[in-house]
Amino acid sequence: MRLQARPGKSLVVIDATDTSELVGWAGVPHRLGSDAQAVTKELHAAKRDNPECTQAFTFPFMVAIHNDAATSWASLAQVQSNYNIVEHLREFSLDGFPMFHGNSFFHYRRVVSTTLNDPIHGSPAYGDITMVNWTQGNDWNWMNPPLILTAQQLAETGQYQNWMGGISSIALGHAEDHALVFSRWLIETQSTPEYPLSHLAGADSPMSTLSGLSLTPYIREGRRILGRSAYGQPAFMMLEHDIRRDQANGRDFSPTAVGVTHYAVDIHGCRYRNWEQPWEAQGAPTYESAVKPIVIPLESLIPQGVDNLLIGSKGIAVSHIVNAATRIHYGEWSIGGAAGATAGWLTTQAPELTPSEIVASDRLPELQEHLRQQGLRFTW
Ligand SMILES: Cc1cc2nc3c(=O)[nH]c(=O)nc-3n(C[C@H](O)[C@H](O)[C@H](O)COP(=O)(O)OP(=O)(O)OC[C@H]3O[C@@H](n4cnc5c(N)ncnc54)[C@H](O)[C@@H]3O)c2cc1C
Repeated sequence: MRLQARPGKSLVVIDATDTSELVGWAGVPHRLGSDAQAVTKELHAAKRDNPECTQAFTFPFMVAIHNDAATSWASLAQVQSNYNIVEHLREFSLDGFPMFHGNSFFHYRRVVSTTLNDPIHGSPAYGDITMVNWTQGNDWNWMNPPLILTAQQLAETGQYQNWMGGISSIALGHAEDHALVFSRWLIETQSTPEYPLSHLAGADSPMSTLSGLSLTPYIREGRRILGRSAYGQPAFMMLEHDIRRDQANGRDFSPTAVGVTHYAVDIHGCRYRNWEQPWEAQGAPTYESAVKPIVIPLESLIPQGVDNLLIGSKGIAVSHIVNAATRIHYGEWSIGGAAGATAGWLTTQAPELTPSEIVASDRLPELQEHLRQQGLRFTW
């Protein structure tokens, strides 16, 4: 595929994929996995870099309160998992959450309610459906093998010539096994005569797949670009102390703000099958209350080395720890909105500029006004 501006027009490309595929394929400078404290100087960073340590990823599926005469259980029981099924089973727990009553597991992501009762506290009814996306369930965090291919692995697998997504199909397979075994475990351990559970699969099921799993997994962390020189760093990256209320030396990004978000540092941590040291930022997770509203500066969307590329998703210039707070819906949409509106403004209002020239040419206030007019916000 060749992306080319029309004659006389300028072109800005936005990478808004979950893993920053264009960044990986084009060899744009980036980081992958956990960062060493020596690199980021973050209080809770790991002692060493581990490019294998991205957050857990998940194949969601749907279960219904429905008696299918054990048909879906029977097909789940046929699943041949690559790792021994016992290893998968050891990972599962509802962690004290009730399945059906009160603020329950079933309410967590209920997508069909036949009674339209209180979504938080009302008990579900026959026919209700929930989407399952559960940490001690279908999350897959084993780095055997890791999900996201490094530059060396991309070269070894010929993906610079023939891009295949830049992720490990073996890791995807293990995650699919894990999700299907979890669904079977839910049916076996949680069904009651009043609330029989069935796994929804097939062309007519909500996921529209034969397995009942989502077509693509939920990937919480991919490649993260390194920004250009900004805010006192030669290769800009938002860091843990920039977003924590209780740490000193946080920088104020409001002068170049284009987006804003707020969330906990929510790391679904990596691990190895045999519990070798994962070099995960294990002490970093914290509640939303310890995190400031996170201002997204324009510099975090601009990669090194390519002048007409912007990042429009979780692949912005953040550390592994900060990604855990910017990776969710509000953050990604704020980033995506900023990237899209910036590209639109550049191509229509300032075609002579590249993204990295906006701040230097004092045109940022104009861009910010354009973002406001588009309904975007960058103050909390
Ligand atoms: C199961 C699940 C649970 C979640 N839970 C929460 C939650 O509780 N709270 C929360 O805030 N957020 C949650 N999120 C995250 C939230 O949904 C995302 O942050 C948000 O939807 C991202 O929106 P987006 O438009 O940036 O990206 P997406 O909606 O993911 O869009 C990316 C698009 O890029 C396309 N794409 C990918 N690769 C390529 C390629 N190579 N070429 C062309 N196109 C490509 C995809 O098809 C897709 O359409 C959850 C996500 C999932 C999947």
